[in-house]
Amino acid sequence: MSDTHHQCEAFASDARYRALVMASCAILWEASADGEFTAEQPGWTAYTGQRFDQLSGWGWLDAIHPDDRERTAALWREALAGRTMYQVEHRVRGRDGCYRYLNGRAMPIMNADGVLVEWIGAHADIDERKRAEERLRLLDAMSQATRNADDPISVMAVTTRMLGQYLDVTRCPYADVEPDNDRFTIRHDWTAEGASSTVGVYSLELFGKRATADMHDGKTFCITNVDRELGESDGAAMFNAIACKAIICCPLVKDGRLVAMMAVHQDRPRNWTDREVALVEETAERSWAHIERIRATEALRDADRRKTEFLAILAHELRNPLAPIRSGLQLLRETHDKPATAARVRDMMERQVNQMVDLVNDLLDVARINRGNFELKLARVALADVVAIAVETTMPLIESSGHTLNIDLPAHETLLNVDATRLAQVIGNVLGNAAKYTPAGGHIDIVARQEGQSVRISVTDNGIGIPDDAAHAIFDMFAQVGTSTERAQGGLGIGLSLARRLMELHGGTIELAPRPGAIGSTFDIRLPLADVVVKDTPPAAMDGAGVPRRAFRVLVVDDNEDAADMLATLMEMNGHTTRVANDGAQALLIAKEFFPEVAFLDIGMPGMDGYQLSEALGRMPQLAGLVRIALTGWGDENARARSRDAGFDHHLLKPCTLVAVEALLQEIAQRQRATA
Ligand code: ADP
Repeated sequence: MSDTHHQCEAFASDARYRALVMASCAILWEASADGEFTAEQPGWTAYTGQRFDQLSGWGWLDAIHPDDRERTAALWREALAGRTMYQVEHRVRGRDGCYRYLNGRAMPIMNADGVLVEWIGAHADIDERKRAEERLRLLDAMSQATRNADDPISVMAVTTRMLGQYLDVTRCPYADVEPDNDRFTIRHDWTAEGASSTVGVYSLELFGKRATADMHDGKTFCITNVDRELGESDGAAMFNAIACKAIICCPLVKDGRLVAMMAVHQDRPRNWTDREVALVEETAERSWAHIERIRATEALRDADRRKTEFLAILAHELRNPLAPIRSGLQLLRETHDKPATAARVRDMMERQVNQMVDLVNDLLDVARINRGNFELKLARVALADVVAIAVETTMPLIESSGHTLNIDLPAHETLLNVDATRLAQVIGNVLGNAAKYTPAGGHIDIVARQEGQSVRISVTDNGIGIPDDAAHAIFDMFAQVGTSTERAQGGLGIGLSLARRLMELHGGTIELAPRPGAIGSTFDIRLPLADVVVKDTPPAAMDGAGVPRRAFRVLVVDDNEDAADMLATLMEMNGHTTRVANDGAQALLIAKEFFPEVAFLDIGMPGMDGYQLSEALGRMPQLAGLVRIALTGWGDENARARSRDAGFDHHLLKPCTLVAVEALLQEIAQRQRATA
């Protein structure tokens, strides 16, 4: 009875014991008093796949990860010797060949006499927890190690090394994807000993179409065996070239754009676990965020430095013209009885003031564009006219530097829908830069070509050029290349940044054209054409700038000799015959024997003013049909009404451009043809 009772009790306790083990998902094992496996261990065999003959004695140690084996054996021996509880955490190889972390414990079992009879042990799977801890520790260590990094490369160096070593891979590269989204630049890679570096610029196409599309969608690219999973054109060629057989590549997509990639490469096929993929993804995300923070800080610092420099230059640029203006005022006070000197001083002051006005206007434009309340005055204009305005404003600079200018425009009239003044400002700026940054006696070319539905205007010089590393920055606000004296041309570094913004407002672009090895630089300006593109006009009627010719006899009257001479010379260049007078009386004398067909009359003149002169010319019978044009600084309706009363046919605002003058002359010609 008592025997049966005991047996029942033993059975019950054994059953409870097994149930407990089952419930805790543990692997149960029993070892002899001297710590050897002497009987079948079904739990251990089920987990590791070791048969009894393999695990018996100390054979089970073979299933322990080589790096943990020695420590495990030592702990086991220690427990056996002291008859104390055995406890270990180690990696055990499962049936599938993969190691997982297990927690093992065993207790010595004594009989009633205190004699050690056996050991009862259990192993529990703690792999998930262990790996999660390990991952967090690694990520934490990465943050610690890069906390004080202040340049992107050191962040890349630390994270790729730590990740590469942790995953025991061959290589770990970090790449920025270029803004064109077609290329990526591996800025840094960590490599295991003996592996080659892959730092360089690559085309995304090398990944093949499907993988490239996945990357743009932010999907991790995961390959276990390159030779089996990838075709030659789907990346196999690229990966084989760098002896890479398995890859995890994590793309980072921000605001819909692929911005960076982080990868790990293995020189043999490898079954990546979900955990490993997740770790690479997490590292990529964190490194990118850190690198971008550093870059943003760098950009802020850079912008701040440029602004400080800009303020210093601006103060200088504003003070420069003020000094001669101030001495000019003093001179005027002293030389009121010497008109020639006074006129010279006035011219000089006007030039200086104009320079300041240009500067302030540029600043205001930038401010307006930045605030978003800048409006273009779009109109249909001919490309040739816009180029002519730009050339006219920069001609003095080009000539004074002794450069030759060659203009090559399409033979047919090319119409644009643009703000002519602003586009001329952009072309003028590039042309002015070409003149400024080219040593005296250089060559400047303006070539315009129609390309599909747009037109490209290229301005090329053979000057000092722009170094590659400065090329992307010159369009930034206040950016200037270097500080050497040949570059110090008194600019503010606003011009190109304003030009780019103006082109963007036009739906066009301005870029520095790559010309490897060539001297000087080329800027390409691109614009969409107006809807009506080409109107063929017989080339015979055109001159170099695309302006039709009809020669007039023109009288120019202005008390400002320079202004009068300038206007007359410009018209002579277009084939007209001109005479110049500097006051009313002289004008009347010349008119009597020159019989002008057109007269440009300045309004504000000492003695007889423009209105009186117009009336006097109108009374001369031999000048019937004379077209009179008022030149004034005032464009309001009052001024226009007054000039109409004085018999003027047209009213032009000063300073008038050659294009405006020529356009008016051709309009007059057309009207005369119509009435003839
Ligand atoms: P800046 O007023 O200084 O000329 P820009 O914005 O027009 O300002 O130009 C920015 C910088 O780009 C210039 O300071 C100059 O260093 C460089 N640059 C522009 N055009 C040329 C060119 N044709 N050749 C050489 N350098 C140029």
